[in-house]
Amino acid sequence: MKPKIYILESASVDGELGTDTKELATNKCECGIIRPLIPKFIKVEYIFDTWEGSDVLAGSKSFFVSERLKNEMINDGIKSVEFLKIEASKREYFEIDSSVQKNTLPDFYYLDVLNKNIYCVSKIYNEIECNKCGLKKWELKDNGLDALIKGVTGEGSEESLKIKYDSWKGEDIFYCEMHNKPIITEQFLSCIKKFDIGNLKLGNASWI
Ligand SMILES: [Zn+2]
Repeated sequence: MKPKIYILESASVDGELGTDTKELATNKCECGIIRPLIPKFIKVEYIFDTWEGSDVLAGSKSFFVSERLKNEMINDGIKSVEFLKIEASKREYFEIDSSVQKNTLPDFYYLDVLNKNIYCVSKIYNEIECNKCGLKKWELKDNGLDALIKGVTGEGSEESLKIKYDSWKGEDIFYCEMHNKPIITEQFLSCIKKFDIGNLKLGNASWI
């Protein structure tokens, strides 16, 4: 049965990536596209300004989960993700929000999403072959800008991302190459909902 799927748009931001963060080497094509399109971090430093108690945090093009949520994901058999412990630093003014019951900052883990190549159909972009590097790239459709704006404003965003079901192999979290936010299944969502989800924001995606 096809599970419900959602776009993981954003989560609580309690700090930012530090300069010790390292991405897997990137390549810039003559056409200006940086590959891989979705970065893979091999080391993550996150500098906390505060911690408001959320078990899910967002960084630049990345998401992090607390140790207890990581353990629950492993327990629940969430597929197609690996966990990399992040190096946490704290600003000198760091403090845990007074509303939080726990008084120590837990360890957090970067969600290293394994499959970043699920196919989708977008109202916004056309997939074409780059005539310089021969790889796929995307260009705005004639009415793409309109669809993009509607997506941003939330109006019609439901329609903007359709995932090709036959390219999906049961992953609970994955990316489509052209879209920089991960897609999650209902199972992934119910796992994280057992904990504090903070300011988690979801968008709609559907199967085709
Ligand atoms: Zn190219």
